Amino acid sequence: MTRILIVEDDSAIARNLTDFLRGEGFDAVSVPGAAAALEAVDESFDLALLDVGLPDGNGFALCSAIKQRFGTPIIFLTASGDEYSVVTGFDLGADDYIAKPFRPRELASRIRSVLRRAGRASSVVELEGLRVDTEKAQVTKNGREVYLSALEYKLLLVFLNNRGQVLSRAKLLDEIWDVGGDFVNDNTLTVYIKRLRDKIEDDPAEPRIIKTVRGLGYKL
Ligand code: CA
Repeated sequence: MTRILIVEDDSAIARNLTDFLRGEGFDAVSVPGAAAALEAVDESFDLALLDVGLPDGNGFALCSAIKQRFGTPIIFLTASGDEYSVVTGFDLGADDYIAKPFRPRELASRIRSVLRRAGRASSVVELEGLRVDTEKAQVTKNGREVYLSALEYKLLLVFLNNRGQVLSRAKLLDEIWDVGGDFVNDNTLTVYIKRLRDKIEDDPAEPRIIKTVRGLGYKL
């Protein structure tokens, strides 16, 4: 799964971006400043989104450091007033920039185009005969196309983004409750998990992809 590091000190923006990018099938991690970014960054990240004005430094210095160490593709998130410095960003090797406020869809398409140019676009996840192409939002099971509702697909992405981790029902509800304006309560979550299993498991009675962890939740 494509990993994205978000460096942004505005916690609301960071949270929204993280949620949005996870919904888009990325493994997104956010940190609030330059020092935290340097600690978190490693070669596993396919791209970094850098805010220019950070409380403990600026995005440009960070860009140089990350580029030098890992060559990670970088997109700057610029605030109004930063535009003059966009040139500086490109001089330091930034791959693109986007001015705040931006439309999430536009950011996602910029990210995908930078990843493609950098040859890092891995949008396909496969396990147990299940194949999910998050770029095309296409799901197949044993070579046959599987048709998921928006909520079922979102639920599947939440599992893919948290592979190997136990997800509590509360966490799952938190992640999917507002997709498409549908209200999801604890009972409907059970129904959605069942529907998803019916569509992606070889034997929904003996699930091998989405496993139940008794008393705790579910795990991919
Ligand atoms: Ca900032």
